Amino acid sequence: MYNMNYSELIAIDKHHIWHPYSSINSPVTPELISRADGVYLHTHDGKQIIDGMSSWWSAIHGYNHSTLNNAATEQLNNMSHVMFGGLTHRPAIELAAKILDIVPQNLRHIFYSDSGSVSVEVAMKMAVQYWYSKNQASKHRFATMRGGYHGDTWHAMSVCDPENGMHNIFSDSLPQQFFVPRPQSLFGGTWHSEDIDAVHELFKKHHTEIAAFILEPIVQGAGGMYFYHRQFLVELRTLCNEFNILLIADEIATGFGRTGKMFACEHANIEPDILCMGKSITGGYMSFAATVCTTKIAQTISDNAPGVFMHGPTFMGNPLACAVASANISLLCNSEWQDTIALLEQQLQTELSPLESHSAVHKVRVLGAIGVVEMKEAVDMKKIQPLFVKHGVWIRPFGKLIYTMPAYIMNSSELHNLCEGIKQTIHEVYGK
Ligand code: PMP
Repeated sequence: MYNMNYSELIAIDKHHIWHPYSSINSPVTPELISRADGVYLHTHDGKQIIDGMSSWWSAIHGYNHSTLNNAATEQLNNMSHVMFGGLTHRPAIELAAKILDIVPQNLRHIFYSDSGSVSVEVAMKMAVQYWYSKNQASKHRFATMRGGYHGDTWHAMSVCDPENGMHNIFSDSLPQQFFVPRPQSLFGGTWHSEDIDAVHELFKKHHTEIAAFILEPIVQGAGGMYFYHRQFLVELRTLCNEFNILLIADEIATGFGRTGKMFACEHANIEPDILCMGKSITGGYMSFAATVCTTKIAQTISDNAPGVFMHGPTFMGNPLACAVASANISLLCNSEWQDTIALLEQQLQTELSPLESHSAVHKVRVLGAIGVVEMKEAVDMKKIQPLFVKHGVWIRPFGKLIYTMPAYIMNSSELHNLCEGIKQTIHEVYGK
């Protein structure tokens, strides 16, 4: 019964399994992937397609990497999991040492969790418990900017963009947060000082209620692949200090070199009070995340009743994930990753920017190993998705955005083929 053929497998998938943001009536049949290796996905019928998505930012060193495989296998043969309450282990400790080496140096205390969304929940709880511990429990709301995305769990959802996010469906049960417009000043462009005015006004009026400002530094991902000016972060850091508001950097997408810096906060030389990392932390091998905070936050929470931080997931500090994450960070740090990302950036810019003259394209933008082609209208997924595959590439657009974040191991001829696949697909759908 379980040795199913293609049609049987797809029938079960289509009728019984939810995919991300999907309908069980979806007209698009998902690709059945049987193997992934390097920068290639292999489909059930023997096609080999270049992966332009790194499995949503995560597989930075490509698939089936021998170093990561060995780290996983070795750890698996030793111990795949033990509870983290009252116990500890080498993989968690070695990973901590590596994280402490690469994060902004004010961040010294690490909370491991199972996914990006949970690491955001943890960050938000830390901020609320910090103010509670300081006898300022009225500071329990959050500020953020429009266009953001921080995950699909409850409080994470409350700070996602109210229009792009899921607020209209869940608004009656979501906590109400404060939103300011996102900066109009673009990354690398001119700074317009009025971009920070709304934050200043909000803080003046509501600082006694706000625990923290949360944002994705420099690159807003799922909220529009939008790259904004570094000066916004500089000014925001100053205002947060002035008004006693914590700053949470959600680096779940931007972390581990993707924007050309290890963490995107470094573009503005600022240190957040709390930083979330996830996605590429295990090189795309398994779900894992971490929330890192300052000593002041950790100490304040620990010094005051109840004296413990109130969170503790079952799979916290999972040894298998820690061992892979540790190997993944070493791989990155022992490589010339800045040069690699700079080369990817240059080639993405050269190969994608000619699309800007296409009548259906609104804008092309590139930062680090991220290439974005913003169309004038939302793409027709049912039509475009199979065409990308036909042209040998795996690209998963959303809304008006066709975008890629290749694995750092992608060589220039593979990246050329990826960009060609994107161009050929756009030409086939919209004409030359
Ligand atoms: N924050 C950001 C910036 C993200 O891009 C994501 C994932 N798309 C999340 C949070 C949530 O992470 P996860 O999907 O692992 O829960």
